[in-house]
Amino acid sequence: MSEIIYLDNNATTAVAPEVREAMMPYLTELYGNPSSVHRFGGQVETAVDRARQQVAELIGCEPDEIIFTACGTESDNAAIRSALATEPDKCHLVTTRVEHPAVRNLCHDITHGGPFRSGYRLTELGVDSQGMLDLQEVGNALSPDTAVVSVMWANNETGVIYPVEAIGAMCRENGILFHTDAVQAVGKVPFALRDLPIDMLSVSGHKLHAPKGVGALYVRRGVRFEPLLKGGHQERNRRAGTEAVANIVAFGAAAELAKKNIALEKTQVARLRDKLEAGLLASCPNAIRNGTAESRLPNTANISFEYIEGESILLMLDEYGICASSGSACTTGSLEPSHVLRAMGVPYTAAHGSIRFSLSVFTTEAEVEKVLEVTPPIIKRLRELSPFGRD
Ligand code: PLP
Repeated sequence: MSEIIYLDNNATTAVAPEVREAMMPYLTELYGNPSSVHRFGGQVETAVDRARQQVAELIGCEPDEIIFTACGTESDNAAIRSALATEPDKCHLVTTRVEHPAVRNLCHDITHGGPFRSGYRLTELGVDSQGMLDLQEVGNALSPDTAVVSVMWANNETGVIYPVEAIGAMCRENGILFHTDAVQAVGKVPFALRDLPIDMLSVSGHKLHAPKGVGALYVRRGVRFEPLLKGGHQERNRRAGTEAVANIVAFGAAAELAKKNIALEKTQVARLRDKLEAGLLASCPNAIRNGTAESRLPNTANISFEYIEGESILLMLDEYGICASSGSACTTGSLEPSHVLRAMGVPYTAAHGSIRFSLSVFTTEAEVEKVLEVTPPIIKRLRELSPFGRD
């Protein structure tokens, strides 16, 4: 493929060169099993331990609070199912209407007669037009039978950041487990879990320049945990299955890189995102930002170009090698606006034309300038073709 301009980093990221280099020996000569008694395996175990330390340093916790998983989705499933298993007398879950499907569909499945124990009740908190939660509503939703509250740290579509510290504090006061899906936040916003009232937190490697196939679940010391996968005694009996050593080593290297680069998110990445967003809003009529500018990730811009289809915009951007994503998903043959934009009450005419641009520390000024050059004529052309006939 010719040169691409990759602005879809909330979907996945490029594996960083130093990450690839770090994992390579574990795909080639260092293939031992970390559980083996021989020194050949022991060497590999040491590498897994080091990766655990690197991930712990990025999120400010102890290495023994990290369980390696296969992905963010597994971490979310493990956290929520463990909370229900360890709180057998409680039957209520609280989450939001804007969660990633990894949490949302699981909660629907648990409470709508999926393959799990029935009898659970779900409260899904709404958001306002800026994508923000009302803390008072969170408080009102808690009840003595609430087993777990799961609220994402940052939204994958809009980048809106949620007040997880305040929500965690409310949960702690009420003796309720608090889980946060931090898949989009880790590596983009600095934090230290040892200072925060969070019991469980999900991370995914491929969102921070590690390969796909590795994630982590943080479980605070003292929080009871029931494994999702049962079998061998890997991960101190908390996640059975021979470790994906190369991926884990890569994840460790990516965590170290993210820690080194995190200051760039607020400066370099946010500046380029702001330049892109301001440029598009100024040069394209009927363009609107989705999600509050007050509290959001530094790398994400979600813009609705009213009266046109996001998919058409993506196809035309693709002609220039520009990768972004749209807020509509093709279900049953028609384009459905995303549940996130629907929850925010974004009108259909705007939700259909929403595009998410998500940057990384590897995004350059020249790439942003290219997008600013080619997008306005694309929008103009599509508006001319639109049955709504606006410009
Ligand atoms: N949670 C959020 C907020 C995400 O953005 C994603 C991926 O897009 C996931 C969970 C799932 O992560 P994974 O792809 O590692 O399963």
